[in-house]
Amino acid sequence: MKRMAKKYDVIIIGAGPGGMTAALYAARANLSVLMLDRGIYGGQMNNTAAIENYPGFTSILGPDLGEKMYASATNSGAEYGYGNVSSVEDHGATKTVHTDDGDYIAKAVIIATGAEHKHVGVPGEEEYAGKGVSYCAVCDGAFFKDEDVVVVGGGDSAIEEGLYLTQMAKSVTVIHRRDQLRAQAILQKRAFANDKMKFVWNANFEEIQGDGNAITSVRYSDKVTGEEHELNAKGVFIYVGIKPMTDAFTNLGILNDQGWVITDDQMKTTVPGIFAIGDVRAKNLRQIATAVGEGGLAGQGAFNYIQDLA
Ligand code: FAD
Repeated sequence: MKRMAKKYDVIIIGAGPGGMTAALYAARANLSVLMLDRGIYGGQMNNTAAIENYPGFTSILGPDLGEKMYASATNSGAEYGYGNVSSVEDHGATKTVHTDDGDYIAKAVIIATGAEHKHVGVPGEEEYAGKGVSYCAVCDGAFFKDEDVVVVGGGDSAIEEGLYLTQMAKSVTVIHRRDQLRAQAILQKRAFANDKMKFVWNANFEEIQGDGNAITSVRYSDKVTGEEHELNAKGVFIYVGIKPMTDAFTNLGILNDQGWVITDDQMKTTVPGIFAIGDVRAKNLRQIATAVGEGGLAGQGAFNYIQDLA
């Protein structure tokens, strides 16, 4: 028998740092709040070893920060439940959240489903994740002071983050599969003018090698000549694309043409009562600190929205 849809004031889809902060703020405003996640709470923080740029902690393990944020949200009264959200239907004053296990009804919905960095899928990538392989220079660049690092990719993110890395690394070698970059002209200009940036063109990125604890080198082959090369490196930063987790929201008309959710500066989408926060938004800096700030705004925004409904 199909169960009755449970009702909440606010349903938050995704229990990463953004979602858990939104839950904290909405629950403290005395709203009934459910965080739904298809994985374990914490989101991308569960894949992060040391976090050194979240204020208040000189260094903290990602899962430990997740536990603390979860305690803040649930101690304030927010509930957490498993649910793979497949779609959201807007009926004005209520929204239906469809999951694989049944439906929920809410007055307001906060989308906090994050994003996923694409992997290149080479040997060593998973083994050295967090031990030298990174998808975020702003997060991990400081671990590679005066070291040789490699950036894989040739788009805006690869070059922007590569330029960022030149501030601490000894050298930054961009390994790219084409014979020219895809990044904006201004970024290319800056990259070519930077003495620390080097470029390997027409390369198939083949393997990340190490001693089991740390990366020692990478291997690539020349697409034109077929020659194999090895390059010493301590860090490998991979920028072959980042994908927003928005398949469940395509019907709402709130996504841009690349699939990111568009909001205003109060985290409101164009659908009244539907907010979006964190990495899933169309924005420049995808970090825990930004997700958390946006979570506060959306939690409070949901409260204001519900007050106005009454
Ligand atoms: P996420 O953390 O992505 O959480 C989204 C949640 O939504 C996930 O739990 C997911 O399971 C859930 N979800 C997705 N789709 C659905 C669905 N359809 N139904 C139900 N649930 C769903 N940032 C820093 O500030 N400092 C760092 O040092 C740092 N290091 C990083 C290291 C790595 C390896 C990675 C990958 C990221 C790192 N980041 C770091 C970035 C940071 O983790 C993200 O910016 C942050 O987690 C984004 O938070 P969020 O709340 O937007 O979403």
